Amino acid sequence: MPAFRHRAHINRLFDLCVSVTEEEPPPDAADNVHDAADIASPSPLASAICAVCRGTCCHLGGEHAFLDPAAIRGFMARSGGIVDPLEVVYAYAARLPRWGVEEGCVYQAETGCTLPRWMRAAICNAYRCQGLRKAEAVIDEMGTGRFFVVVRKDNRIRRSAFVDGEGIRHYPAEP
Ligand code: SF4
Ligand code: SF4
Repeated sequence: MPAFRHRAHINRLFDLCVSVTEEEPPPDAADNVHDAADIASPSPLASAICAVCRGTCCHLGGEHAFLDPAAIRGFMARSGGIVDPLEVVYAYAARLPRWGVEEGCVYQAETGCTLPRWMRAAICNAYRCQGLRKAEAVIDEMGTGRFFVVVRKDNRIRRSAFVDGEGIRHYPAEP
């Protein structure tokens, strides 16, 4: 991960934390601190589908990682007393991966997001692309336990895999 990307994120995060501590929280701020249900992990099958995709939606995270005032207020509320902007920045900076994904989010590593769910922006925990929403509907309605996942980009198939309770089987097998 190039150092300039870390620096860009840290500078932005510091400004964000300072503005959060200096401004009066909006009246509905407490309602916007997403609760445990919002930060629950997707099902193992849905997680496996995202793993085959390798976080395409995270590519939009860039150097901002979607962190906003609500995410910072949520972090402060759940951290057990961290409210100093420098300490907040330190907590996040400590999670920045050394090896990242080219043109991905600064927290996107080969194994997925390096932020625990409770430190992420609400959209990071809630977002489901159309393909994942369809798969989750099929899981809920039909109890399907296996899928064949095809990842496309620029109208070309980039990779594909079988996913089920046993894990991920790439087809064709990856080297
Ligand atoms: S939500 Fe969709 S785009 Fe995002 S990682 Fe999962 S499958 Fe990929
Ligand atoms: S913070 Fe994590 S979940 Fe959110 S965009 Fe970045 S890598 Fe993806």
